[in-house]
Amino acid sequence: MTFDFKKYIAAIPDFPEPGIIFRDVTPLMADGEAYAAATKEFVAYTKAQGGIDVVVGPESRGFIVGGPVAYELGIGFVPARKAGKLPRETVRQDYELEYGGINTLEMHADAIKPGQRVLITDDLLATGGTIEATVKLIEQLGGIVVGIAFLIELDDLHGRDKLTEYDIFSLMHY
Ligand code: IMP
Repeated sequence: MTFDFKKYIAAIPDFPEPGIIFRDVTPLMADGEAYAAATKEFVAYTKAQGGIDVVVGPESRGFIVGGPVAYELGIGFVPARKAGKLPRETVRQDYELEYGGINTLEMHADAIKPGQRVLITDDLLATGGTIEATVKLIEQLGGIVVGIAFLIELDDLHGRDKLTEYDIFSLMHY
């Protein structure tokens, strides 16, 4: 029997703005069985992509999703952080937010070695701006993005269209 992941996703109408249905993944993360089952699915996907050297996740739910995957695979985890948080030399990338405005992600300039094969993880794919920025940072450092894994993909927002060159795995679709 396949695991019923959607049972652990709360739908919050009109958050953070009227007309938006926010998908809250925190109940899934708070449940040991569901969190482990989701991690297992991500690990299976990553193994199928073949030889991954490092997992990268954007702040902050990308950390919660990606950390256990890296641990299970015995590889490292690299954070893509919001501007001004990383203490050493960084590369930076601006991107547009789903609900308006501009954000910036940074990675340490030495975090990815040229030629390293990278899995990106995040909780949710909406418009794709966050992950497009993350991909650009990784590629700027010479990394190769071999897969991108999400808990949830919001199909109507077509984030996938920004990522057509990449392999995408989504555990749930809405
Ligand atoms: P995107 O850049 O438009 O694809 O937005 C994705 C980012 O915004 C992810 O890092 C999510 O954590 C966050 N996000 C956007 N919409 C939702 C939602 O409905 N639930 C949870 N997170 C969301």
